Amino acid sequence: MQVPHKIRHFVWRACRDALPTKQNLLKRKIISEEVCEGCKEAPETVGHVLWECPRAREAWECSKLVIRPTDGANLSFQDIMWTMLLSDVGDDHVALIATIAWALWHNRNETRYGGVQKFGQHLSRWASNYLLEYKAAVAQNNPAAPLPQHGVAWSPPRGGHFKINVDVAIFLKQKSVGVGVVIKDEEGRLEAALSKKIHAPLGAVEAEARAFEMGLLFARDIGVRNVVLEGDSLVVYNALCNISSPHPLLIRWSKAYKTFVGTSRVWAFHMLEDRAMFQPIY
Ligand SMILES: [Zn+2]
Repeated sequence: MQVPHKIRHFVWRACRDALPTKQNLLKRKIISEEVCEGCKEAPETVGHVLWECPRAREAWECSKLVIRPTDGANLSFQDIMWTMLLSDVGDDHVALIATIAWALWHNRNETRYGGVQKFGQHLSRWASNYLLEYKAAVAQNNPAAPLPQHGVAWSPPRGGHFKINVDVAIFLKQKSVGVGVVIKDEEGRLEAALSKKIHAPLGAVEAEARAFEMGLLFARDIGVRNVVLEGDSLVVYNALCNISSPHPLLIRWSKAYKTFVGTSRVWAFHMLEDRAMFQPIY
């Protein structure tokens, strides 16, 4: 997803229902009521602010996105993102969805602290322009590598293989880790996506190793066999490919990979600056 880090982080928090909505603040006994300030009609949940509230609806209607999420007041943001991903809307659309959602939440915060409430239409237009400017800036700074979060563009796996990309977000205070897994086929079509919270104080390397493990198990569950794993961590890559003696934290995980591999073909892929590294996992 080609969006600034703050928006990616926001998406993680929204998916984990970790935004300080009025309902969440009420649960923590910080405030005494949970009514949405925008419409005064319903409890302010993540699903309400980002989807159900009339202003949110207006923003989505004004966007050029063709989206048909399931209706329902209790829809979580994770459900919404899941629906979008499954409907195969493409990376640009997912980025726009995330940015509109961020704009809705950001303006909700501004409003709470005395700022002006903006129209849904305004936020929707702002999000499109913001993404265009962001993309242009990234392309200008780093023409060979348009994806800022990984520094490299997604490339398709070899024929007959699926590529598993993982991403992790570490929440130090909550001692937890958010893990995202996306599985795409050789033409870049989304096969499946998963997001999950792990309640454990994992470090970056261990979290990514764990994410790969989840990705492999997920692939196995959906019947995908020949896969390429792609992530950011060179430490994990080297451990997987037996290039270096594994980081102590990884020994347990690399054993798990080897057990899984069995009859499947699993490859690890790592992009480092301009160099692609590609190794089978034994
Ligand atoms: Zn509302």
